[in-house]
Amino acid sequence: MQQFIDTYDFAGKKAIVRVDFNVPLNEKMEITDDTRIRAAIPTLKKVIEKGGAVIVMSHLGRPKGVTEKFSLKHILGRVEELLGAPVKFADDCQAADAQVAALKMGECLVLENLRFYAEEEGKPRGEFATDEEKKAAKAVVKENQKEFVKKLASYADCYINDAFGTAHRAHASTALIADYFPNDKMFGYVMEGEIKAIDHVLKTPEHPVTAIVGGAKVSSKITIIEKLFDAVDNMIIGGGMVYTFKKAQGGQIGRSLCEDDQMQLALDTLKKAEEKGVKIYLSKEVVIADDFSNDANTKICLNSEIPDGWEGMDAAPSTLAMWEEVLMNSKTILWNGPVGVFEIPAFAKGTNRIAEILAKATAENGAFTLVGGGDSVAAVTQMGYANKVSYVSTGGGAMLEYLEGKELPGIAAIRK
Ligand code: AMP
Repeated sequence: MQQFIDTYDFAGKKAIVRVDFNVPLNEKMEITDDTRIRAAIPTLKKVIEKGGAVIVMSHLGRPKGVTEKFSLKHILGRVEELLGAPVKFADDCQAADAQVAALKMGECLVLENLRFYAEEEGKPRGEFATDEEKKAAKAVVKENQKEFVKKLASYADCYINDAFGTAHRAHASTALIADYFPNDKMFGYVMEGEIKAIDHVLKTPEHPVTAIVGGAKVSSKITIIEKLFDAVDNMIIGGGMVYTFKKAQGGQIGRSLCEDDQMQLALDTLKKAEEKGVKIYLSKEVVIADDFSNDANTKICLNSEIPDGWEGMDAAPSTLAMWEEVLMNSKTILWNGPVGVFEIPAFAKGTNRIAEILAKATAENGAFTLVGGGDSVAAVTQMGYANKVSYVSTGGGAMLEYLEGKELPGIAAIRK
């Protein structure tokens, strides 16, 4: 049975908490962005305040075994500073019995990177000469995974999953471990917040609802676009994928990004939108460049009339003005994906402007604004609007899968 962090009695209990401390580190092993650590602190604090102790587990990077640079020891100082409680470290997540036994209420024990063990992901590592060998190795990891999970579970009285970013993975610490706590499992505040925000947009939004979907490829966004037709009134489509739509409609797109094999699908999608009564707003005028670089020559033109040798890089001011009108008339807005080549400063203007409009719609119209996905989140954060939109999602892939209507293993394991 699912429990809730606000009502669960943690007094005298040890809680094992899966967090997402997968933070970026520089060459000196210093944290360059501690957003994910900050996000998990309220959950950890809650357990401690209610008289419990926390055992924290996370992954960091993609190690293929024990690797110094992916050690969670690099982040302990920051966790202690933000938590305001003593933080200890177990340098092997499978041999922490003594430290767990010595852990006092009010303290925190961080376990070393779970992915130092292949059993966390349940996938074999290394090269295999044949498929049979790979299959056999996988069977071994899966078998060993049972003991791996059992050991982690043996440390605690209850389990909290607060790692939304890995909720779409059926890993040992994100899904399997929950079975050991049938009556003592719950979501942390990050998970609760993410689920609530996305469910609100999909199930109980105030209309009109507008989604802005940007990014590079039609192929990676088409499922979500079509799924969102059931929830939205308007759909703004920007970024590199627009050129596939435009070429499919007979436009000239120069050497803009295009997936020729997706053109028919793009046309079918537009038809589906019409059938469902969803208004589509593709970019119209765009900023084009003669090179994929910051000091390229640029011009503005219609995205169906791009000269040879030029490519579409960003939304032009007239397109942004058209989108702004739609957005300022919306009560619920969901944004995923940049509307231009955001990594190059000269072509980040459109994406930054979207961030600005969302902050404005939130403040002036009380719109509910949800932002997710690496580049969109980076844009609102860099522009200083992270606190000026309603919700910033921490899990790009997990958010997309949840929006697509898939059941995420990390969520299902707590609810079942
Ligand atoms: P996604 O991960 O699918 O959300 O795509 C993000 C990527 O889309 C970013 O790396 C952007 O640079 C890229 N992108 C956005 N607009 C364009 C464009 N007009 N041409 C090429 N790439 C683009």
